[in-house]
Amino acid sequence: MARVALVTGGTRGIGEAVCTGLKAAGFSVAAVYVGSDERAADFTARTGIKAWKFNVADHQAVLDGVAAIEAELGPVDVAVNNAGITRDGTLLKMSFEAWKEVIDVNLGGCFNIAKAVFPGMRQRGWGRIVNIGSINGQAGQYGQVNYAAAKSGIHGFTKALAQEGAKFGVTVNAIAPGYIDTDMVAAVPPDVLEKIVAKIPVGRLGHAEEIARAVVFLAGEDAGFITGSTMSVNGGQHMY
Ligand code: NDP
Repeated sequence: MARVALVTGGTRGIGEAVCTGLKAAGFSVAAVYVGSDERAADFTARTGIKAWKFNVADHQAVLDGVAAIEAELGPVDVAVNNAGITRDGTLLKMSFEAWKEVIDVNLGGCFNIAKAVFPGMRQRGWGRIVNIGSINGQAGQYGQVNYAAAKSGIHGFTKALAQEGAKFGVTVNAIAPGYIDTDMVAAVPPDVLEKIVAKIPVGRLGHAEEIARAVVFLAGEDAGFITGSTMSVNGGQHMY
């Protein structure tokens, strides 16, 4: 039987590349999204991967959503916490709502998914959780106190949960992508993006597939001795 992988934010951007990468690696994949049904239907038509709609920030919705996925595909062996949003602004301009929403989706989503899948993984003696952090959680970023705090929190969450899973065959790792050419980065003004690319040692944006390959590796059998780590996939930007 194929192992089951769940990918939040799986219907576009990095998440879509992760879904197709995991499918190609032999996993039975479930994608999770929250927005447009039309876009999700298009994703399913293109990839043959079914998408489930629920908000990762809603604890009960996650428990119910994961139960529905498991009823159809079987127990989740691999969870990729990839769903993420930005609501940028300097602290002076940032509303409490923009702070809370970003923390609830980016960081709260990891907790909610882990609550749904970690106990089963531990019981069965095998599991992989891969959390998508960010270079901006490692280095901070002007105008992103909410996002940087959430992503930095993911890196701490990863190391703490890894310690709870280590003796039970469950690894928990994070990936810290740099700037990747997805919708999220398309929202950055061109003049700002030019300055950002100038600071990336390899001199270009990353591709979603480059993050996906790292996720597929961490999700596999060969990565069993790696846990609590953060893999920087950001063209060397974490060094500066
Ligand atoms: P996109 O904005 O392209 O896609 C985000 C995905 O997350 C979408 O599938 C979206 O669903 C889903 N999503 C958003 N909110 C929720 C929610 N509340 N519940 C369930 N799903 C949700 O993002 P990217 O592909 O660019 O980024 C993916 C991850 O990588 C994010 O965590 C991001 O922070 C991180 N990252 C991205 C970088 C980049 O340069 N792009 C750099 C560093 C980190 P829907 O389509 O339905 O809205």
